[in-house]
Amino acid sequence: MSIFSKIAKKSDEHEFFVDIPEGYSPGKTKYIITTGTVMSGLGKGIFNSSLAQLLQAKGLTIAPIKLEGYLNVDSGTLNPFRHGEVFVLDDGLECDMDLGTYERFLNLDLSKDNFMTAGRLFTRILDKERKGKYLGRDVQFVPHVTGEIKRVLRSLALRKKADIVLVEIGGTVGDIENSYYLEAMRELSYEEGPDNVCFVTLTYILEPGFLGEQKSKAAQLGIKNLLTAGIQPHIIACRCENPASEKVREKISVFSNVPFNRVFSSHDVKSIYLIPLSMKEAKLDEAVIDILGLKHRIKKGSIKRWEELVQNILNPEGEITIGITGKYTWLRDSYASIIKALEHAGAHCRTKVKIRWIETTDIESNKIPIEDAMKGLSGIIVPGGFGKRGTEGKISCIRYARENKMPYLGLCLGFQMAVVEYARNVCGLEGANTIEVEADCKHPVIAILPGQADLKSLGGNMRLGGHDVEIIKDTRAWELYGKRLSVRERFRHRYECNPPYIETLEKHGLVFSGKAPDQQIMQILELKDHPFFIGTQFHPEFTSKPLSSHPLYDGFIRAASAFSTSRPS
Ligand code: GLN
Repeated sequence: MSIFSKIAKKSDEHEFFVDIPEGYSPGKTKYIITTGTVMSGLGKGIFNSSLAQLLQAKGLTIAPIKLEGYLNVDSGTLNPFRHGEVFVLDDGLECDMDLGTYERFLNLDLSKDNFMTAGRLFTRILDKERKGKYLGRDVQFVPHVTGEIKRVLRSLALRKKADIVLVEIGGTVGDIENSYYLEAMRELSYEEGPDNVCFVTLTYILEPGFLGEQKSKAAQLGIKNLLTAGIQPHIIACRCENPASEKVREKISVFSNVPFNRVFSSHDVKSIYLIPLSMKEAKLDEAVIDILGLKHRIKKGSIKRWEELVQNILNPEGEITIGITGKYTWLRDSYASIIKALEHAGAHCRTKVKIRWIETTDIESNKIPIEDAMKGLSGIIVPGGFGKRGTEGKISCIRYARENKMPYLGLCLGFQMAVVEYARNVCGLEGANTIEVEADCKHPVIAILPGQADLKSLGGNMRLGGHDVEIIKDTRAWELYGKRLSVRERFRHRYECNPPYIETLEKHGLVFSGKAPDQQIMQILELKDHPFFIGTQFHPEFTSKPLSSHPLYDGFIRAASAFSTSRPS
């Protein structure tokens, strides 16, 4: 009797107890499990997404999942300047930015099933315990916590009818936080049997400047940690600045029982969009298919469109600089989706988009005159944000863009700030503001959404996720969206344009070109006599994909390019 039929008996009497979802049978879905050693920040998400893309191009159905070690229930309460952007899925889950990478590379819409944190995992287990679901047993890390993790993966496999569930374990092997995830993966591979689980580990190769050569010791020790946890990797990817030398790959092979041809170099490349191509050239996808015995399931596919995209990125025809208001430090990760959306639209329009960060507190304090801050820019974005910091400076930037006919894209808070600016400077509503910044302002043109005022806790309770947006005919938004009258976009906000002020704003020329179909929530604003002045209460960057850039970002880039050629230098 195979181990699987024994555990599938589902008895809590013996130690094989595992809660297997109904209808699950092993072998149908294969698993790729990616871990990181030596250090975090190796780009596991991009590595996995690239690999997944190649496998998807061979006709395989891929279901990615990220397992996070932190105790937060979701990513909504995490500071983006510490943890990177909070990404929002269509079902409203606030999650890690890696889920954005998966959606973008795989052209998929993901859901709660594709993300797990320790906080959510333990909430589930403790809920079960309170309901007496463990039948008097002491609830233990093994088998109950590890069992719950395996259940999550197997349920995902079933629900998505996946050929491959691609598991990314957050953090680094050796962290206390992910030790039980690793243990669960060891159990999973034992239970599913050989050929059904492929372990991939990313490691880091040091190349200290004072030595001028690559060193593999740290990598060896990191991999040893994995072996100690009972996990034998099948594939090792060496993250390094320069291609991993043969000597280093040989050493790692010897110390980790991984054949030399399965120790890959995953060195830095000019653009992340090149990673799938270099992975394909190294035949990493084929190694996975061999290990998992998937040859008979693959179909002939191509990544031609991706190759064209890379050509567009590498050979732009023009260049523009876009200003984004935001804090100086750690900006890359906090605004990851905006940067990506600009890259996608830039590739689509064959334009290289450079970014200049604008610290708006410097504009407020007159440290930098607004004209200087705006010099050389072809367009400006005020992105999403929370709180008071720098808002007056943002309003000055918006005013400049409106008056100087510089393309403007306002995202969520950027929409709200544009309303405040218009109310103050065009409608003459002196003292207009958002109540998020000034609770008792004279004209609260941005106010709290119905239902948000009484909330006491912070987590997961904003207006979140995908909502339909009704587009008003004959507007700029309508044209940009290809004359569609309804689109779906993703939101994350507590405040909205205050309904009693809508009429005044409209009378003075502000056009609300997108609205919620069921409530009086304004979702897109625009100006008629301006080359591009658009604000969205949602985040279009969350749905932009490399191969289908977002129409509003495309429009913005086109307008910015036109502005840069017309602007006196
Ligand atoms: N702070 C604003 C709100 O809650 C904007 C949020 C955002 O930009 N995502 O409505």
